Amino acid sequence: MAIVTADSTLPTVQSYIDGGYVPSTSDEKFAALYPATNRTICDVEQAGAAEIDAAVESAQRGFAVWSTMPALERSRILLRAVAIIRARNDELAALETLDTGKVIGETSTEDVVTGADVIEFYAGVAQTLHGETIDFPGHGFARMKREPLGVCVGIGAWNYPIQIAMWKSALALACGNAMIFKPAEMTPLSAGVLAEIYTEAGLPDGVFNVLQGDARVGQALVRHAGVAKVSLTGEVSTGKSVMADAAGTLKAVTLELGGKSPIVVFDDADVDSALNAALTNNFYSTGQVCSNGTRVFVQRGVYERFLEPIAERVRALKVGDPFDPETMIGPLVSAEHRDKVMRYMKIAEDSGARQIIAGNVEDPGLAVGNYVLPAVYADCTDDMEFVTEEVFGPLMSVLPFDTEDEVVERANATPYGLSAAVFSSDFARANRVANALQAGSVWINDYGTLPASLPFGGYKQSGVGRENGANAIEHYTQVKMIYSSLVPVEKYM
Ligand code: NDP
Repeated sequence: MAIVTADSTLPTVQSYIDGGYVPSTSDEKFAALYPATNRTICDVEQAGAAEIDAAVESAQRGFAVWSTMPALERSRILLRAVAIIRARNDELAALETLDTGKVIGETSTEDVVTGADVIEFYAGVAQTLHGETIDFPGHGFARMKREPLGVCVGIGAWNYPIQIAMWKSALALACGNAMIFKPAEMTPLSAGVLAEIYTEAGLPDGVFNVLQGDARVGQALVRHAGVAKVSLTGEVSTGKSVMADAAGTLKAVTLELGGKSPIVVFDDADVDSALNAALTNNFYSTGQVCSNGTRVFVQRGVYERFLEPIAERVRALKVGDPFDPETMIGPLVSAEHRDKVMRYMKIAEDSGARQIIAGNVEDPGLAVGNYVLPAVYADCTDDMEFVTEEVFGPLMSVLPFDTEDEVVERANATPYGLSAAVFSSDFARANRVANALQAGSVWINDYGTLPASLPFGGYKQSGVGRENGANAIEHYTQVKMIYSSLVPVEKYM
């Protein structure tokens, strides 16, 4: 495939089942739009009931082959996929930019790269999966073996389409499962290409299938009796629906959901470092990152010093063409999402909070796309709607605080618990606060560093289970106990 540009149109996208693309029996199509202009890139065929059943049956056949293959061979196939992905990095990054509107400076250095890293990590883990033995001297022994679950379903959000597809499939496949992946309707372009790459790398047919379509396809998969497990990345409300639907067949679920994460900056912090972290982790991907630190608590002693450079720093961010390597702020994923974010911008403007910087897109060249300018409000209070709810756009709130106990209580006063950070030069305090913050990932004097070996996931309503890291195999395997007797069974009755 040639590297796509902002003007590319693509052939109709179909589901990928059993090693190849298949036409849909549903007769329904939807359009994939380029978020910077909202022009149609291509049509996408919505998978019908026949494709859903075909994908599950194919995955069950694929599972029978894959789960009995030596781990070394599975590992080699995953590593071949990694090599192909890395060789095609720029092409995949451009496709991701066209699909999501995310700037090329990010997709070419982050999205594809970190996806490949996770596949490489789990290719190694695949060879380390082993069981345990317990001896019962004079009687027998038991071996506990770790077995895959079967057909797993991955359902992706639109903000990191290819990375999510790689993260979910890497873990599932390394453990010997098959996966059916449903990308978000708004970002359908990359999942099929990943399936092609897996096939080229030698993955048996059916081990990674892709079904295109909207929430109906996701829901049918979650309810399907032939599916053993579901992993969703999405909103909290979707997580609740998926968990309820999965209960019908008692499927295991992994849920990677939303957040409203705090960054806590103490008076003794390196303020420049904290500000760098706050700006990046509010405006990267135009704010469309689940783990962003959108509630920035700053202690009063450094409060004004923290705020002072913000307006100039934010004004300097280049907004515009996502394919321009200099661009820092691209469009939001859709017009509907832009309208939602703009509603929160208005709520912030009317809230009484101090506006540090905000504004409307005036460039007529950008008006056809889903652009929103980054905004920062200070003197926010904990109860303001844009401070409590996930905006998923470039809106940062700064809140003053006085004491350690106070800030811990306020930072934790949210139903979310995805990520958090504390900035302080006091080692003991930084660790005390990190221990007290209710979040799945907490950084001290940093934000967002997340190599493949570290677990990621949420506390409270930000999720269930973990992805990445060696321990996540617990969520994609089950332990079977096999007891072997070394003595005859005694007569009892
Ligand atoms: P949504 O919850 O709207 O959708 C996520 C996926 O679920 C989509 O593929 C969607 O299909 C599908 N879906 C929707 N309803 C159902 C259902 N009832 N049953 C099965 N599948 C369903 O999330 P967004 O795509 O809007 O993504 C943004 C959200 O994702 C934010 O809340 C963000 O915080 C979160 N997120 C969490 C991450 C984490 O790791 N914790 C990482 C990235 C994002 P369709 O889109 O086709 O309707």
